[in-house]
Amino acid sequence: MDIVLTGTGSPLPDANRAGPSTLVKAGDTHILVDAGRGVVMRMAGADSLPGFLAAVLITHLHSDHVCALNDVITTHWVMTQGKVRLQVYGPVGTAQFVERQIHALEPDIGYRIAHHDVLTAPPEVQVTELEPGDSFTVGDVSITTAATEHSPVKPTIGFRLEHDGASAALVGDTIPCAGVDELARGADVYVQTVIRRDIVEMIPNEMIQDILDYHSTVIDAAQTASRAGAQRLALTHMVPAPTPEQYPEWIARAADHYDGEIIIGDDLTTISI
Ligand SMILES: [Zn+2]
Ligand SMILES: [Zn+2]
Repeated sequence: MDIVLTGTGSPLPDANRAGPSTLVKAGDTHILVDAGRGVVMRMAGADSLPGFLAAVLITHLHSDHVCALNDVITTHWVMTQGKVRLQVYGPVGTAQFVERQIHALEPDIGYRIAHHDVLTAPPEVQVTELEPGDSFTVGDVSITTAATEHSPVKPTIGFRLEHDGASAALVGDTIPCAGVDELARGADVYVQTVIRRDIVEMIPNEMIQDILDYHSTVIDAAQTASRAGAQRLALTHMVPAPTPEQYPEWIARAADHYDGEIIIGDDLTTISI
C-alpha cells in the first residue's frame, strides 16, 4: 500500500503545499482522504486522477479539507463521461455538503450537458454518512472509523485502512483521544495533522491562537504514536509550515517522545508499507 501525501498544507496559503489530502493506493484501488486546495493537481502528480478513485473519505467539513471536492466531483464526472458514480464517505452532514456543491455547480453542469452529447445527466455522487465505529470495505481495502476530537467541529471521524497485511491510520484534525489511539494501534503508518504549539504561541494574532485548542501538537502526535505502537509517524498539515532546513528540529522534537520512524511530509511524499 502506498500512502501519498497529496497535500501537506493547512488553511494558510503556501506556494509549495496543497491543502490537506492524502491518497492511498492499495494495488489498483485508489482512495482519497480529504480534498483540500489543489488536490486534483497533486493527484495528477501522484499518477492518479479522480476517475481512478474507488472512494473519497472525508474526515470533517472544515473548508481546508473539502474546498476542492467540487473539482474532484466535476473532473470525475467529465473524465468518466458520467458513467461512473463517485463514492463519498464522511461524517453526518457530508450528504448535504455534497448536494450543495452540486447545486453550486449547476450552471457548469448545464453547459456541459448541453454541449456534450455523451453527458446526459448531472454528476452522480453516492454519499454514505458514517458513525464512529462503522466499518466497511472499498475493493479489498478494509476501513474502520472512530470518533476524533476537534471541538467545536462536530462530527469528526478518522480512518484506518487495511490491505494485504498493511495498515494506515489517517485521522485528520484532532487532539489526542481514544479514537485516534484505537485507529493508530500497531499501524504501519499513522498520519497526523499537526501544529507547533511553541511557535504558534508566539504569533500575535487572536485567530491563530484559537487553533491551539483543537489540534495535535508535534509532541502530542509523537506521544500518540508511541502509546499506540505505530511503526511510523508522518506529520502533515503543519502549522506553521517548516522549511526543509527546519525539518531536523521538528523531527528531533517528536523523537524525544517516539522511537519509530518520523516522516515530515512534503507534497507527494510517498510512504510504502
Ligand atoms: Zn479542521
Ligand atoms: Zn485542517
